[in-house]
Amino acid sequence: MIAPEYHIRDCVEADMDLIRYLFSVEGFSDLQSPEGIRVAVTPDNTMYGACRLEQGSDGSWNVRPIVVFDVVQGKGVGRALLKDALRLHPDLRLVARGAIEPFYLSCGFERCGWDAIAPEYRAECDACPDKASCGPLPFRSLPIERSFTFLGTSSGCGVPAFFCHCPACEAARKDPSKRRGCTGVALRGHGTTVIDASPDIRHQLNREGIDVIDDFFLTHAHYDHMGGLGEFEYFIRLYLMGTMPFHASDHAIAETLKEYAYMDDCFVLDVMEAYDVREVDGLSIQALPLKHAPGTFGYLITTPEGRRTFYAPDTSDLKPEVIDILKGVDNLVMDSTFWENHGTARSHHDVRQTVHEGIDILDAGHVYLTHLAPHMCEPGVNEIDEIYAYAAQFDGRVIVAEDGMQFTL
Ligand SMILES: [Zn+2]
Ligand SMILES: [Zn+2]
Ligand SMILES: [Zn+2]
Repeated sequence: MIAPEYHIRDCVEADMDLIRYLFSVEGFSDLQSPEGIRVAVTPDNTMYGACRLEQGSDGSWNVRPIVVFDVVQGKGVGRALLKDALRLHPDLRLVARGAIEPFYLSCGFERCGWDAIAPEYRAECDACPDKASCGPLPFRSLPIERSFTFLGTSSGCGVPAFFCHCPACEAARKDPSKRRGCTGVALRGHGTTVIDASPDIRHQLNREGIDVIDDFFLTHAHYDHMGGLGEFEYFIRLYLMGTMPFHASDHAIAETLKEYAYMDDCFVLDVMEAYDVREVDGLSIQALPLKHAPGTFGYLITTPEGRRTFYAPDTSDLKPEVIDILKGVDNLVMDSTFWENHGTARSHHDVRQTVHEGIDILDAGHVYLTHLAPHMCEPGVNEIDEIYAYAAQFDGRVIVAEDGMQFTL
């Protein structure tokens, strides 16, 4: 493994002497605390650059300033600091010297009017004696396309399950495109948020080209959703050289850390109560309580534009309070563990129940069937084929999820 030359972390008090010097050269001499400052540092704590994010009187978030040491120019440090800043505050403003306009245009920013810049920062520029030579220009970040990717779409054991010779597993042995890993999803925007770490997650992340995870949410502490958490250990220790935010219910976190006690220093634990909301990479993510294992959440993901997606891979029938919240959801991604003849499945949905709740009760824009377990079929029947045929009658509104399938959030 090639360790990264530098990583980005929060600024701490011990960095402040250097930061004050760095920023004063740029005309920022008002620094009180490390708050809002991110620094790019080497493993031995040599500083390569820094970026301060400050909220203006109009509520906007602003880069004030971003600085990279001359000796490390050309290593992508400025670009990495901006990417990190956009993940924290996707709608970002800045005022830059006219001469470096091409750099910001290549980093996901566009020119904007001065009216998008908070009045106190405009006034600062107007009063600056270097204004003419600097040629300051206002920029704001471009909106980005946010995607939802199915990392895996099977219940525990996957398809094919190593011990199973049902028609779906035999078909998947012959044709790799019919294989399914255990359930999990990735939300990609400026950063990457992963929900659930299935035992298959290493292969899933490699397949999707995901090499950084910024935030981790867990639905519940069953093996098929958290059995791959150990794959994160070296990423966190050697690559991040820090910690990863881990969001879930109290119960799910406690049960998971019983299995992964040696990783208890790897995470910033965020215990969520039912109905709590977190802001992550510009998305609002709400934990909704589900009837399954203790402490099971589904996550309602809302974009800045108000588009809503609900991810609930393991759930029995939805509670009335949850149904009220989910009415009219754009995308429902839900437990469809069973097909025919599985009347005992009280802690899961079957396909028809998911479609009924999605279409008739919630009026969802699209219903994605996931967490499929096509093993318990009648002799000679391939359940997966029957589920595809059933879904086809809804004119594209009901979709059988597949590993690697993606949609725009
Ligand atoms: Zn499951
Ligand atoms: Zn489960
Ligand atoms: Zn099977």
